[in-house]
Amino acid sequence: MLKTLTRNFSEIIKKVRGRGRLTEENISGALGEIRLALLDADVALPVAENFLAEVKNRAAGAHIGRDINPGRAFARIVQHQLAAVMGGEPAELKLKKSPAVILACGLQGAGKTTNMAKIAKMLKNQKKRAVLASVDVRRPAALQQLEILAESAGVSCIAAAEKTDTLARAAEILKSARRMLADVLLVDTAGRTAVDDEMMAEIRALSEILSPSETLFFVDAMQGQDAVNTARKFHETVPVSGIVLTKFDGDARGGAALSARMVTGAPVKFVGVGEKLDDLEAFHPARFAARILGMGDLAGLAEQAAAAPEAARNFAQTLRKPRGFDLNDQLAQMRQIKKMGGIQSVAEKMPAALGGKIKNLDADAAKLGRMEAAICAMTPAERANPEMIKASRKRRIAAGSGVEVNLVNQLLSQHEQTRKLMKRFAKNPAGLARMFGGMFGGTN
Ligand code: GDP
Ligand code: MG
Repeated sequence: MLKTLTRNFSEIIKKVRGRGRLTEENISGALGEIRLALLDADVALPVAENFLAEVKNRAAGAHIGRDINPGRAFARIVQHQLAAVMGGEPAELKLKKSPAVILACGLQGAGKTTNMAKIAKMLKNQKKRAVLASVDVRRPAALQQLEILAESAGVSCIAAAEKTDTLARAAEILKSARRMLADVLLVDTAGRTAVDDEMMAEIRALSEILSPSETLFFVDAMQGQDAVNTARKFHETVPVSGIVLTKFDGDARGGAALSARMVTGAPVKFVGVGEKLDDLEAFHPARFAARILGMGDLAGLAEQAAAAPEAARNFAQTLRKPRGFDLNDQLAQMRQIKKMGGIQSVAEKMPAALGGKIKNLDADAAKLGRMEAAICAMTPAERANPEMIKASRKRRIAAGSGVEVNLVNQLLSQHEQTRKLMKRFAKNPAGLARMFGGMFGGTN
């Protein structure tokens, strides 16, 4: 994800030298390179220029504490500015009326159908009565795709009617949704491979008939410069109230998000991170900024650590002694992570590469709780030597802690994974152990 920008940025901040102050001289090289990196990530030129001017403004004369590396101080300014550009706070859906209509727009293949179903499922989980419908009357396959997705999301889908046109269909589904007492009606539309007048006329007419609370513009994160034009055209026509950045799990360059945001002024509300119905995340500007820059929210992590200093120190120690990492350490670590706000919260603040790996481990807090219970049901010997836990011990542990044997298996294989991961970081001198050692008062 965002490989280009991320890799480049890590190199760039190394070039900010000198101590005491950030000056035009010591950042000019870095600014030039960020410009190239942004363009390389397919950020539109005016968007990039605007951004750089703002960074320069903020950086000029910014005082750096004596112990802070100037590269990091500069990085923080860039990260902050990028988050500000992306909208500052996470933006929620604004759902007025009943039913509140969410209208999808975007090019064909942008991910409208899939991600509308994901949003419907999310709303359903929030105990809202969500109903999906398609106004794509030309392609029966489109409705079928939506019906299948709706079914697996456990959300109602309004069936196709006999021959009708798009606008008649829109009026009809609105009526059906009212009859079904829907809280939210999600309307999927037909896209085209390129922006054309017919599509624009259609989306405008749909918008008039449905008067949506939200008009979401779906954009493929892989899309380059073109995203600017597409976003602008749609925004001039409807206007767009939110952006959904799809396929962010791929080898995306991220520029599309920045550009679409700048052109429409509408916040990115969701990020699609896979083909499955649960692969949808709320968009957090600050985290996006941190991850796009590949450095993680180290400041945020340090703050959390400060709130739980003892935990952080132990955590750092465990990381420095990976050879002895056993289930006792894991239990201590789970509890520490809990104090620090949960593994998700910690992982998101780590540098991109590392965060990605940690995130693959189980992030579900409830599950962590059950795993904790399972470890508590083990004998000291078992905790120190997880290898000795075979089938009968697994059954005893499961029964003793009220979890399924399967969870004990998961716990053990995860533990093994973590142990290996830590061994790797310990070997790598620039790895996690060192980073934490430095951050939390150890030597590095
Ligand atoms: P539409 O034409 O705009 O309705 O696009 P679709 O919803 O049909 O999506 C096009 C393709 O992209 C499908 O194969 C989806 O499974 C895939 N897709 C959509 N969103 C995502 C995503 O967030 N990640 C990945 N990996 N694939 C996605
Ligand atoms: Mg579709």
